[in-house]
Amino acid sequence: MIDAYIGIGANLGDAQESVRQAIDRLSGLPKTRLVRQSSLFRTAPIDAGGDDYVNAVACVQTQLDAHELLAQLQAIENEFGRERPYVNAPRTLDLDILLYGNRQIDSASLTVPHPRLTQRAFALIPLLQIDPLIAIPGKGAAHLFAPAVAGQAISKIAG
Ligand code: AMP
Repeated sequence: MIDAYIGIGANLGDAQESVRQAIDRLSGLPKTRLVRQSSLFRTAPIDAGGDDYVNAVACVQTQLDAHELLAQLQAIENEFGRERPYVNAPRTLDLDILLYGNRQIDSASLTVPHPRLTQRAFALIPLLQIDPLIAIPGKGAAHLFAPAVAGQAISKIAG
């Protein structure tokens, strides 16, 4: 079993609901169980206009290999991204593999640790909430990068 950390973001439609449903879907993945989830956070978009994002990080224990896990995440993204011509549609959902155990992966479709993890408060802060001592393979303790993202607006959503 590998501990994998998944970054979750949504900014269209009922973004909080999308993030909650995505976490629910993660808990239903094959050969996988949900171990921990962060609070939901509200963050301002970076390098883009549009609404604020809702972000969270989930920790799963999985027997899926990293590329299988990516394929499962993309299937969930596609399901949420599908245009639904009724209430609450459309919506977007972004799921990223932030960490996959202590592995470092650099393939055509997958870079792990996620290359922007140390530069983005929306990934780093929820990750540190669920594991303050976590290390980023090849980079060191995750908390050492917190000062570098301190200028990015992020606030915990109550509840
Ligand atoms: P995005 O548009 O941000 O959702 O990026 C999706 C693309 O990033 C896909 O083509 C993935 O193959 C690729 N990718 C590379 N590394 C990762 C990762 N660690 N987690 C998720 N997607 C990744």
